[in-house]
Amino acid sequence: MEKIKLNDEIIEQIKDFEWGNLTIKQSAIIEKLILNEELNRRYKDYGLCRECKQPKAGHYYNNYWCQSCNSKHFQEDFKNWTSGNHEVDKFIQSLQIKSNDCSEVLEWIEYDKLEKVEYLAKGGFGITYKAIWKDGYILDWNLENNQWERSKKSSKTYENYPVVLKCLHNSQDITAEFLREIESHIKIESIFVIRCHGITKDPTSNNFMMVMEYAENGNLRQHLNNSFNSMKWREKLDILRRIANGLYDIHNQGLIHHDFHCGNILNHNNNYTYITDLGLCRSTNIKSSQDEYKKVYGVLPYVAPEVLRGKEYTQESDIYGFGIIAYEVCTGLSPYHDIAHEVSLAINICRGLRPKSNYKIPQVILNIIKQCWDADPLKRPKANKLHNLLYNLYYSSNHEINNQIEQADEINEKLTTTSSLYTGIILSYTINSQAIYTSRLLDFKNLPEPKNDDEEEEYSGIYIV
Ligand SMILES: [Zn+2]
Repeated sequence: MEKIKLNDEIIEQIKDFEWGNLTIKQSAIIEKLILNEELNRRYKDYGLCRECKQPKAGHYYNNYWCQSCNSKHFQEDFKNWTSGNHEVDKFIQSLQIKSNDCSEVLEWIEYDKLEKVEYLAKGGFGITYKAIWKDGYILDWNLENNQWERSKKSSKTYENYPVVLKCLHNSQDITAEFLREIESHIKIESIFVIRCHGITKDPTSNNFMMVMEYAENGNLRQHLNNSFNSMKWREKLDILRRIANGLYDIHNQGLIHHDFHCGNILNHNNNYTYITDLGLCRSTNIKSSQDEYKKVYGVLPYVAPEVLRGKEYTQESDIYGFGIIAYEVCTGLSPYHDIAHEVSLAINICRGLRPKSNYKIPQVILNIIKQCWDADPLKRPKANKLHNLLYNLYYSSNHEINNQIEQADEINEKLTTTSSLYTGIILSYTINSQAIYTSRLLDFKNLPEPKNDDEEEEYSGIYIV
């Protein structure tokens, strides 16, 4: 906990300064009086807290949160709630005490605060429901009312704040798994990773559930089905750079997603994308021999060939998954949608098979995709480089990318006016009944050594009709 403080005498001298609009003389006084580097930085970044009069310990994008005051407000409330599970209570409490920003707050949410609970979907690891959270999430302490100020804003402001409830299954130690997933959400602290607001418990099933931010357009796969035919390259690039940014934020925390596919990316207000399902998210330090997840879980088309062969899942394996997702965003189609996802596909992926389409992708984007899905993990770009490349493509007025986009559009125009796939409002194509896009146990033996397909360059693309 924060111990360093400014004494009353200093506070008295600076309390009336208009923080954020200091005169030269006042700035000089601050430099003279606040010698402690940490307090000095905090004062300059966030000013003084109205409540405790100390420089706030906030967050880089939030200058109103006072960690020490809000920590106290949380503690005062500990006696008023319980999840009924000591471990869960301790977990929530410890996060509340530490939180430096409203985005790091996790709450115990009584089930009766949730309305209109309806079934949404069943994924590889859990069932999700949609609900309305009457109160909305904590924004800050309101000094005037002496209670939490709440918000109902995500990428837009709602009258009835929608949330997703996620209940886990398939786990031996449900509580540990559950808490680990939530911890990953809070730790990553990225605006490109979906937020977890709290925990609730379904009184009928007695299952704990995560209460998470809701994404209107569902997952990226659903969004592509609904919107691909009207999407411009700029929107696709925007989606890609946001996913890459979220992945970078995950990797930057020393974590690996482990289950990176289109179903685990949510979409909101068109291009806003958020990574979710961090249930398998692990530190890079944890080797699978120490971990109960020695087995490979995943969606076959997105799993890197070295992982299919039984090697450790790494950050580079997440990048491989990104390559497949990027191809999907660029061409609209689910990878290997017309074939069964069985051992022969795993063998072919190790031999260098990658998704193919005759939908033209601008070369500079295709080159990035190819680097991501290289058979050699060391040749795949790191997430920060990947993010930079896509960010620059999205924001630059570089002529090359614009020319390539124009050329690609010309070629695709023929396709989009003749192929029934691309002519409707939504993408319509048949998926093989054995093409499986939810996470499952993948257990293949004796797969060949991964390699790139040397013929790849010559491939002209006749995959779809
Ligand atoms: Zn304070």
